[in-house]
Amino acid sequence: MKIEEIDQVVLIMPDVPSWKNGARELTKSFFPNAKVVFEGAGDLVIQTTVQSDQIVFAAQFDQQELKRETYRISEKPVDSNEFKGFFYRFMSDIASHTLPWGSLTGIKPVKITHELLLQNRHDEALALKDFKDQYFVSTEKAELALDIAKNEMPIVYPNDSKKISLYIGVPICPAKCAYCSFVSTVADKKGKLCADYLRALLIEIRAFAELIRDQRLSIDTLYIGGGTPSIFSAEQLDALLKAVSSEFDLSNIREFTFEAGRPETTTLEKLKLLKQYHVNRLCLNPQSMNDATLRAVGRLHTAEDIRNVYQMIREIGFDCVNMDLIVGLNEERPEIVLSSLQKVIQLHPENLTVHSLAIKKGSRLREEEGCQYEQIYSKDFYDEISNRLKSSEYRPYYLYRQKYAQGNGENIGYCLNGSEGIYNILMMAERQTIIGIGAGATGKVYHPEQNRLNKVYTVKDIRTYNARAEEIIAKKIKAYRQYLEMDD
Ligand code: SF4
Repeated sequence: MKIEEIDQVVLIMPDVPSWKNGARELTKSFFPNAKVVFEGAGDLVIQTTVQSDQIVFAAQFDQQELKRETYRISEKPVDSNEFKGFFYRFMSDIASHTLPWGSLTGIKPVKITHELLLQNRHDEALALKDFKDQYFVSTEKAELALDIAKNEMPIVYPNDSKKISLYIGVPICPAKCAYCSFVSTVADKKGKLCADYLRALLIEIRAFAELIRDQRLSIDTLYIGGGTPSIFSAEQLDALLKAVSSEFDLSNIREFTFEAGRPETTTLEKLKLLKQYHVNRLCLNPQSMNDATLRAVGRLHTAEDIRNVYQMIREIGFDCVNMDLIVGLNEERPEIVLSSLQKVIQLHPENLTVHSLAIKKGSRLREEEGCQYEQIYSKDFYDEISNRLKSSEYRPYYLYRQKYAQGNGENIGYCLNGSEGIYNILMMAERQTIIGIGAGATGKVYHPEQNRLNKVYTVKDIRTYNARAEEIIAKKIKAYRQYLEMDD
């Protein structure tokens, strides 16, 4: 058996949760199709022991010792980043290759390059060196993350603790996509779920409008996302947008995004309403422009539907559109992915986001079909995607990674010059307060003085949210108020 064919890796290690999480994620990145467990038998066993001022890794493959390595600990206790650095170096020897993102397992590498730029007083060479030295990131990825961090600075700063972004979530969809791991509920035919949810959402909007006025906060960006917010009927959408525009002061807003992601839910009437209420950025997400793929993953639309809605969007006069593609759906061959990319580039949206498929817990692909990545894409293929985008004037403006993503790839938002998705940047940079409204919405209260965040969560189950809206919202308001007043 070759090491790349192993089915199971056993990690025997001290019971430190952050070490175990890091080790599991890195092992999964090196051996994407192997199961990772912490006890039992397996083809590859990695044992970690801590001995006074050193940490020892020993690998057994096919019941024979394969490798043993000792690393000196700089200081005790070893933090999770230092541990992951040691583990990464050992595993890259075992697997005989490196990972583009090195020992980084977090989803926000740009946040780190952003911090390093500030720490090094905007000396890019020093920030790049620190990033590579600390996390073993490849030069290419390090330069990408640094470039994005550099470009986002004028959008993120100056910091103003009174400026906030608002996120309103609508976790309801017309059908479940096979790869979906979000807590999104499929709408019932009678429309009860949407009606109940809208009722609760309007209560929350009013409650937060009062808090925002009370705290003298100014809304910088607004994002209505999902799920599929365009699932609301035109009448419901009108009620939602009316509440938003009458309750909140949107006069200083830089961006108002609405996700009309699935074309089968989007009509001319709804688009006109969105325009009327000053939405200035729309998302329309093909995911693939291949009809067989769309059918296979449970999307209820075709590529032609995307083109038709896109045309309506342009005719109405929206001048910023984002389109998402996912690499890896239905094991698409590289040429099919590239063909979808070309078709979307031809439409010329201002923002184009390229995701790597991540088969996560909760998705049908993982839970029912036990899906694994059969189609592994080469680096040349990913380079081709970025080259095609660059040659069509798109540049990367935001980036995040997902756990268990196809080929350990990342999600990159590209934009045409000057049309960055501002909310996306602010959300990733975590340097502004974001209030999350709706079931499952997470908010973050940012304290610039201490560069610190407090998170506020909302119950994810939409039926619980609908049934107990008043009580849930009152608790949320109390939590936000408490965190917001910490700065005063
Ligand atoms: S549209 Fe998005 S949230 Fe809805 S089912 Fe598909 S992936 Fe999930």
